[in-house]
Amino acid sequence: MQAIVVGAGVIGSSVAYRLAQAGAEVTIVEERRPGGGTSSVTYAWVNACEKLTSEAYFRLNFAGRQAHEDMLAEFPGADWYHRPGVLQWQDAEAEAGGRDGTDPLAKLQQLIAWGYPAEVLSLDDVRKLEPEINPDAIGNVPVIHYPRDGWLDPVPYSGALITAALERHGATFVEGRVDRLVLAGERCTGIELADGRTIEADVVVNCAGRWLNDIVQASEHRIPLAPTLGIVAYTPPVGAPLRSALRTPLVNMRPDGGGRFLLRSNELDRLLASDEGALPSHPQAQELMRRAIKTVPALRNVDVEAVRIATRPIPKDSYSAVGPVPGLSGYYAVVSHSGVTLGAFLGEVVADELVHGRERNELAEFRPSRFFN
Ligand SMILES: Cc1cc2nc3c(=O)[nH]c(=O)nc-3n(C[C@H](O)[C@H](O)[C@H](O)COP(=O)(O)OP(=O)(O)OC[C@H]3O[C@@H](n4cnc5c(N)ncnc54)[C@H](O)[C@@H]3O)c2cc1C
Repeated sequence: MQAIVVGAGVIGSSVAYRLAQAGAEVTIVEERRPGGGTSSVTYAWVNACEKLTSEAYFRLNFAGRQAHEDMLAEFPGADWYHRPGVLQWQDAEAEAGGRDGTDPLAKLQQLIAWGYPAEVLSLDDVRKLEPEINPDAIGNVPVIHYPRDGWLDPVPYSGALITAALERHGATFVEGRVDRLVLAGERCTGIELADGRTIEADVVVNCAGRWLNDIVQASEHRIPLAPTLGIVAYTPPVGAPLRSALRTPLVNMRPDGGGRFLLRSNELDRLLASDEGALPSHPQAQELMRRAIKTVPALRNVDVEAVRIATRPIPKDSYSAVGPVPGLSGYYAVVSHSGVTLGAFLGEVVADELVHGRERNELAEFRPSRFFN
């Protein structure tokens, strides 16, 4: 089977690698560098504990964690998946079931019932684990510890998978921008690049993330997206005051390699009006740094060094969209938020469906067809 994979982000690289490994003749088309899209501007927490709105979605993301462990085992020496644990706490309002409507202890019970490694820590335990965290930033609320959680480095991951698809499994990499799908009636037969080249295949797998619909001519084949902006601030290298990742009402922060810290916040993301002005002076970046200092006072003399703003590829109802698009055979879309968590698993199941023809139940609730009724 000949397959074209459009986009080599964390999802496209996973899909291309697994397809090639399963025996497909794969051509990957990427206009930037592998991992250079949204996958290069992300918190990259590989988790299912933030995905409790639907059990099927939780299970999909839980499988995503396992798939990353399996993937790592196939790449001896790879160090793109870090799992020192994640600490999460809520403010008093949220604890009372207020602001975001979640009760952290009810959430914990649900997670434990579903087999997710999670526990509550006392302030003393937190101090022993992460002595630099300011206890006042936590207050009198439960701290949930996910001892096996962590984050991925999506760019090295994507690069390594693309290299392996090429070197181990004979895939081809084409640098260039896909302009459009090539159609013959109700069948997609390949793609046309912006420079006029065409490539034919039995199936085109669209992993172009936030740009998914740009190559799809007909509106009836476009998956509705509800993208959101996210801003990430990076510090310069500092003398490692923290090992774990933090998910807190003020700021989410974690080490980002070489002593750097990566900072972000959903609340501050919601204030973004555009993706312009991604500079250290950006007001949200400055606020992220202030919040990080409140949380870890050892950062008090540290300034923001770099800022990035990205657009999340999110299907309109917030859940993944993976599968054929009605009315267009030979075309298969894979678009999702939480793509870092899900990438490795989506690679597995997409390859299973397309190469072995085994329809995967895990995807039943996440088909693009739900948007086309
Ligand atoms: C601030 C922020 C925080 C996040 N936090 C998390 C988190 O903690 N955990 C988590 O799991 N997820 C998180 N996400 C979401 C996650 O980063 C994305 O879901 C994921 O990176 C999407 O990967 P992708 O491969 O679909 O897209 P991308 O990485 O954008 O890859 C798409 C690729 O397609 C290429 N492309 C596009 N159009 C064309 C074309 N016409 N021709 C050729 N190539 C093309 C692009 O160049 C790009 O490389 C976060 C996102 C943001 C922005």
